Amino acid sequence: MLVGNVYKEYVRCGTPGCRCNRGERHGPYFYLRSYENGRRRKRYIRKADVAQVKEQCEAYYRAREEVQSQQQLARTHKEIITNMTTTLRELAK
Ligand SMILES: [Zn+2]
Repeated sequence: MLVGNVYKEYVRCGTPGCRCNRGERHGPYFYLRSYENGRRRKRYIRKADVAQVKEQCEAYYRAREEVQSQQQLARTHKEIITNMTTTLRELAK
């Protein structure tokens, strides 16, 4: 699982007379932008690995969504239990 986003870039190589100087930039080149140990990182991804890296990033976001929905569910359960406890106390009076 990877934490980050895949994005592409078109670049100019700087070679005089190259087509990229006329606006036809090279690329796309793919990069993984991520945070590691609180630092922003940018890593080049080989074209052959792009699909796999994207999939790994998506797997992280899916897992995070899953955790968030579990937490939401836990909050809802807690609320129900609190309400039931209140109701039971009221009935016991
Ligand atoms: Zn060029």
